[in-house]
Amino acid sequence: MKNIRQTNLKHVRLVVVKLGSAVLTDNGRLNVAFFTRFADEIAQLREQGYRFIVVTSGAVAAGLEALGFTTPPSTIPEKQACAAVGQLRLMRQYEQEFAFHDQVVAQVLLTADDIRNRRRYLNARNTLRALLGSGILPLVNENDTVVVREIKFGDNDNLAALLTSLAEVDLLLLLTDLDGVYDCDPKAAGEASLIPLIDEVDDEVTAFVCATKSALGTGGMLSKLEAARKAAAYGIPTVIANGRRPGVMARVLAGENEGTIFLPRANRLNCRQHWLAFAVEPCGSLYLDGGAVAALIERGTSLLPAGISRVEGDFGVGEPVSCRDLEGLEIARGLTTYSSSDIRKIAGLHSRKITNRLGYNAGDDVIHRDNLALL
Ligand code: GLU
Repeated sequence: MKNIRQTNLKHVRLVVVKLGSAVLTDNGRLNVAFFTRFADEIAQLREQGYRFIVVTSGAVAAGLEALGFTTPPSTIPEKQACAAVGQLRLMRQYEQEFAFHDQVVAQVLLTADDIRNRRRYLNARNTLRALLGSGILPLVNENDTVVVREIKFGDNDNLAALLTSLAEVDLLLLLTDLDGVYDCDPKAAGEASLIPLIDEVDDEVTAFVCATKSALGTGGMLSKLEAARKAAAYGIPTVIANGRRPGVMARVLAGENEGTIFLPRANRLNCRQHWLAFAVEPCGSLYLDGGAVAALIERGTSLLPAGISRVEGDFGVGEPVSCRDLEGLEIARGLTTYSSSDIRKIAGLHSRKITNRLGYNAGDDVIHRDNLALL
């Protein structure tokens, strides 16, 4: 077991570490002792050569008191107001603690829209690279002021998972107030046992893991599993561990049996495919016959018009679409070479008939395999 961990963690240098509200706060206030310890531990690990991007929750929690709340408010604008106040306090706390180690920190606020938009995505990537290149510790949170439920990342677990490919990191470390993933809710049942290793997040795994939600966080265990699945698709491991335990990060990185490790997928997506698979919102769907599905999955080919049975939605050239089998199961996402109206005209045809039917030819494929991510 220790061997599997060490093999998977041996090459880790850059880590996204996500801190949930449950780790950062105590009785509705920032847990100052945690920040001190966290800064000490990060400083030590940096000396060993590790580099970090921190995804930090806790803004809403840190702002509650100032706005006169004892528990998170129910309306979204009130939560956003708490986050606006709390984000400042959160950053001040980090800055103060890291100053003892001469470690400069930076605030990076992102929204799901920023990641979806390829240009802003690349801008965020360049900024993070520049920060890391200057030895600065990026502290990332969702820009809560400008997003509501429908357009959020959903939770910071998801944001952290999307950052894995954006920043090309080697490990996703999710720190929470549980020791890892249990086979049932450890807070409710006495019998729960910790699962040390999960090699694939499939339906079976999600079915037996209960969605245990802490009062302040938004994620819960299911969103962490989803984040681990996304990191695995990018080809890196995830560890879920208890952030309240002193020294937990060092033990995880040393390959000790700490928390739950999720193994990476062998056929990894590259950065662009990862972005396509998980960050973009498809504008429509292409339904493929059995031959095309097999060609995509088994032979890694481009999608040709001949294999398309049906087109759903209206989209232009270069927009993201889902590729589905005839039952509607999504098997891939990609950027199209033709608009939806033109694909409707050439669906089912051999590629050599494209010019004849459309009066032009932008390529023999409807989605080139460089623009395709298998799910
Ligand atoms: N952005 C939220 C905050 O800082 C947290 C979201 C989450 O925990 O997933 O309070």
